[in-house]
Amino acid sequence: MGRYLDSSCKQCRREGMKLMLKGRRCETAKCAVEKRERNMAPGMHGWRRGRNSDYGVRLREKQKVKRFYGLFEKQFIDCVEEAERLKGNTGEVLLQLLERRLDNVIYKLNFAASRKAARQLITHGHIYLNGRRVTIPSIMLQIGDKITLKNADRSRKLVKDQLASNPNFNVQGWLQRDADKPSATVVGLPSRDDVQLAIEEYLVVEFCSR
Ligand code: SF4
Repeated sequence: MGRYLDSSCKQCRREGMKLMLKGRRCETAKCAVEKRERNMAPGMHGWRRGRNSDYGVRLREKQKVKRFYGLFEKQFIDCVEEAERLKGNTGEVLLQLLERRLDNVIYKLNFAASRKAARQLITHGHIYLNGRRVTIPSIMLQIGDKITLKNADRSRKLVKDQLASNPNFNVQGWLQRDADKPSATVVGLPSRDDVQLAIEEYLVVEFCSR
């Protein structure tokens, strides 16, 4: 499985917003976007962030979504095509599909500190879906799907340490978590309000349907 090797903070600085790619660190003063002197696009000419064209505005919105969920271009375009096939507002359906990815759900359950850490937990075989071991972070979850951990002390310790590090984490209503086992069930579908990303999704759709 491929992965971005670029700095996570660099991606946030490029988009000029917090994409929360590093877990708890993103909530501290160490965040590169919080530090005013670094709140500029990366690179030698970052301070020269001019006005974007219509194309540029749409491109940036698309890049925000892609980077927020940690997707490559091909994966992202596949999701857009899937959203276009489904009924409803394409932008909202797209975000709903992305929210239902297994790596995102593991992060939203606070089983991992970030989506990147969630992907690692999955690919290393710590996660079971409906009783079966899964190693594919992009699996799209359905209502009724049950997430459990591998029956190993190491897997339980990894997740329990993460849960203990952030006991006030608020699990969204479409997920039901049992922090003691730990395990979880998908009990609904995410709404637009569950997506913690301030973007205009219609601009993303417009960009992709050029
Ligand atoms: Fe982005 Fe987090 Fe780095 Fe801040 S600390 S710039 S939110 S990845």
